[in-house]
Amino acid sequence: MATSSPLIQPTKSRAVGNDLRTLLGSEKVKDDGPTLTAYAVDASIYRIPPQAVVLVESEDDIATTIGYARSRGIPLTPRAAGTNLTGSAIGSGIILDVSHLNRILEVNREEKWARVQPGIVLAELNKQLSSYGLMFGPDPSSGDMCKLGGMVANNSSGPHTLRYGSVKDNVESLRLCLTSSSWIEARAYPLTDPTLERLLTMVPALRDVLVLTQAHADLIATKRPTVSKNSCGYNLFGVADGLAQGVFDLPKLFVGSEGTLGIMSEATLRLVNKPTSTLTALLHFKNLEDVGDAVPQILTLQPSALEVMDANTLNLIGRAKHGIPADAAATLLLELDADSIEIDLQEQADALRAICRPYKLASEPTVAFDAERREQLWKARKALYPTLYRFDPKKKPINFVDDVVVPAEHISELIRYLEDFFGGQHVPVAIFGHIGNGNAHIVPLLDVNDRGDFEKMVQAYQDVHSTVLNRFGGSICGEHGDGRVRAEFVQRMFGKELYDLFVQVKKSFDPGNILNPGIKLSDASFTDHIDYTRLSKSCATCAKCNSVCPVYDVFQSEDMSARGWFEIVTANDYSYLNSKRVVEACLNCKSCRTICPAGVDVSDLILQKRAEHPNRLAGLIFRQQAKGINFDAFVHVLASTQRMWDRPFVRKLLERITGPIMKALAPTARLPHDLVLPKLARRHLRERYAHLATREIEESPTRTVAYFHGCAANYFDDGVGDAVIEVLKKHGVEPALPPQRCSGTPIQTYGHVDLVRDGARFNLRSFAPYETIVTGCASCTLMLKDYPTLFPEGEERQQAESLAKKVVHISEFVARSSEHPPMANTGGTTKRVTYHSSCHLRAAGVTKEPRQVLSSLPGVNFVEMQDADRCAGGAGTYVVKDYDTSKKIFDRKARAINQSGAHVVATSCPACMIQLKNGLGESVEVKHVAQLLQEAYRAAEGEKS
Ligand SMILES: Cc1cc2nc3c(=O)[nH]c(=O)nc-3n(C[C@H](O)[C@H](O)[C@H](O)COP(=O)(O)OP(=O)(O)OC[C@H]3O[C@@H](n4cnc5c(N)ncnc54)[C@H](O)[C@@H]3O)c2cc1C
Ligand code: SF4
Ligand code: SF4
Repeated sequence: MATSSPLIQPTKSRAVGNDLRTLLGSEKVKDDGPTLTAYAVDASIYRIPPQAVVLVESEDDIATTIGYARSRGIPLTPRAAGTNLTGSAIGSGIILDVSHLNRILEVNREEKWARVQPGIVLAELNKQLSSYGLMFGPDPSSGDMCKLGGMVANNSSGPHTLRYGSVKDNVESLRLCLTSSSWIEARAYPLTDPTLERLLTMVPALRDVLVLTQAHADLIATKRPTVSKNSCGYNLFGVADGLAQGVFDLPKLFVGSEGTLGIMSEATLRLVNKPTSTLTALLHFKNLEDVGDAVPQILTLQPSALEVMDANTLNLIGRAKHGIPADAAATLLLELDADSIEIDLQEQADALRAICRPYKLASEPTVAFDAERREQLWKARKALYPTLYRFDPKKKPINFVDDVVVPAEHISELIRYLEDFFGGQHVPVAIFGHIGNGNAHIVPLLDVNDRGDFEKMVQAYQDVHSTVLNRFGGSICGEHGDGRVRAEFVQRMFGKELYDLFVQVKKSFDPGNILNPGIKLSDASFTDHIDYTRLSKSCATCAKCNSVCPVYDVFQSEDMSARGWFEIVTANDYSYLNSKRVVEACLNCKSCRTICPAGVDVSDLILQKRAEHPNRLAGLIFRQQAKGINFDAFVHVLASTQRMWDRPFVRKLLERITGPIMKALAPTARLPHDLVLPKLARRHLRERYAHLATREIEESPTRTVAYFHGCAANYFDDGVGDAVIEVLKKHGVEPALPPQRCSGTPIQTYGHVDLVRDGARFNLRSFAPYETIVTGCASCTLMLKDYPTLFPEGEERQQAESLAKKVVHISEFVARSSEHPPMANTGGTTKRVTYHSSCHLRAAGVTKEPRQVLSSLPGVNFVEMQDADRCAGGAGTYVVKDYDTSKKIFDRKARAINQSGAHVVATSCPACMIQLKNGLGESVEVKHVAQLLQEAYRAAEGEKS
């Protein structure tokens, strides 16, 4: 068997897509340019564009797709979240994306198991299991985005593997479709079970594996890795263990097989109790050798996690920034879990201190029990990825020797070797990982487009892997999988004889080499298919942004996701016309920017592309608004007639009449008749507070604090503007309302950068003389803080920077205020209040203050809802631009609010309030944080009088 992949080169032909559409229906098959571009990458260093993508929705879809691929000899690559680091979820044929199969099918609390589909995200699964007091133990750091299908296929694990094991230790059974299109239940069958005999007859490949494992038991035993973790090759070791105990343990074979033997549609997972309390500790060692010495003793405490960072890593993340002593040679981070009251974590902490006493520590051990402090201790470890990604515009963290395992007691020796090796190459490198398992992640920073660095990469690949095998007797792969990157070394790891057995296994299940060819077993060089272009770009394709992108949440398809959009808009063959569908789908919620470790702002790249094709209708409207008087008069007319036109019958008519005009905004745009519109103010805020508002820009105003009310608070009768002004007055401030234009967010969304800049110039002049600029709107807050990005280096940029520093949201203002006006409970009873954290306020870095304010209100029981940080789908005018998607995005928010049991949902943004009120109806009250403050102050006034 040729183990290198018989890859069909990507062609422009749409024949494969057309065939699949005929078989599966057009909804599930995509083969347009942007989709293929988005699916050409995963989180590895490789790029291979496929010919078509199938978003399967049922087992029938899986079997049909496999049957088609087999009959045509087309490579078929299963894919979940595409976060693997090895290139195993990309391929040149058909990508079979399981993301739409994302349900929990069954949970058994007593027996502690759950039956799940492969498209469910780990974090989502654990969120749902937490209500049962349970969780799935293996915890890859990518848990917010990776999905169960990928985790099972990769045998993933994470920091807590020490206690909970890898995926292979936690799977009861799998349902799999083989290349014959037949389905099997892969569980541990006693050899005496008559069902097994029937299964072996039905699936000869299984009999082949059984016979082969029995026949070569000695070879398998000799070649068994002696380290505590291994994901290299097929796990015939686990199968052999089972046979020795009289069972044919099929999950052991399929977990970790990287989609090369079958496609999984269900997994039954063993669950564990969620720990009731946890201790986290940070230890800074002066001598690396002491670390190796201390680890076996620390392991006697049975930590659930034991992580190491070497001196290089500590330098890279910045010692001063994270309070890491200058003389620390390595840092250990460890966790001890308690899931019963019998375990006394204080005693454990004392025992840990006693273990550390003989060693030279650079500072006293830091021990934390409460969640916030523990989070602090993880901070340095979690800062690692962002630091590596942002280290240098050219030198990128390259995953090619990222996952070696050595016996835990040799980890210091391994680190010393790696530091010497990469030091000799003059290559910056981060070495960190799960020291308790001897599993080290090694991430050198290289510019692979530079010949010298490329050669260093190839040299390091050979040297590090060989040393791990020959000197340390370790494994080249602990948890990330072999994929494309380690496939060429699998034979070196196990020797030809065992490798040949692996090839036989593969051949038995997949004689046509259809399933994920080139993965795990290949003689192709690991440098084939490296994406040199992408490795010179800023995005690391880690998919963190997908985990927060509301559009991806709804569509679960890479062409409708932040990571996919980065690929699409930065591709050499990008054109707005063929990508309009995707470029116009972004909400500009900025959630991707907030989370991206590499500092990429996908939404900004999309806005730049939209700016090349500004929307004419939107431009017309915003130009009129900027002119002021006529627009205001028009809004007045709308307000005074709202009672007439805002009736169900008239709204239906309006939706129909305005339909063609709205199409000029976007093909999906309409004025939905059932959208609950905010009441328009008959007297605008500026008119109601004429004594505070100035008509002309004042050069030397008497007041020092200005209120940037924005459009919503001015035009809508939503009470937000009044509340902000009243709250400020309570804090002893009478704000000025200087002349102002739209901050620019909605204008930017439609591509009118010049208009945004004009408005910004006006606002800069108008607000420059004030010391503090208070906002009540999340989007205005962010936009004003972002003004510097609108101007090139120079005077205007400086003015914008100076303005940005003065901007505070009302919740920040109150949280920082030295005044503490009396507050009282408004209704006498305790209200349960939750908080929807508006995306733009999060992007502006304001997350704690609104919560602090809400928690301080008398008579308020503040509860954190799940998904507080997820977009609600309003996004200014997006609710009109694509109402159906907007509603689907909101569904998740509505569920979270209802689950929280809150009577009131508070937010910091008038635009989000519209979406919340529309989606929640009368079931939950929607209030701005300022309104709740206003009520508390008024209640105290009432009590006084
Ligand atoms: C920032 C970052 C941190 C990471 N940290 C860790 C870590 O701590 N530990 C760790 O183990 N990994 C880690 N990883 C690697 C990766 O996240 C895991 O391997 C993850 O489990 C892959 O899941 P996925 O859903 O992204 O799978 P994908 O990347 O989509 O696929 C992975 C493999 O599974 C196969 N597959 C997917 N679905 C199926 C199916 N239904 N049937 C058969 N085969 C299928 C694919 O063909 C592929 O071979 C990290 C990755 C990143 C980017
Ligand atoms: S944009 Fe950022 S978060 Fe998204 S994939 Fe790229 S690096 Fe990761
Ligand atoms: S701005 Fe929001 S919708 Fe747009 S790509 Fe980022 S996360 Fe997705």
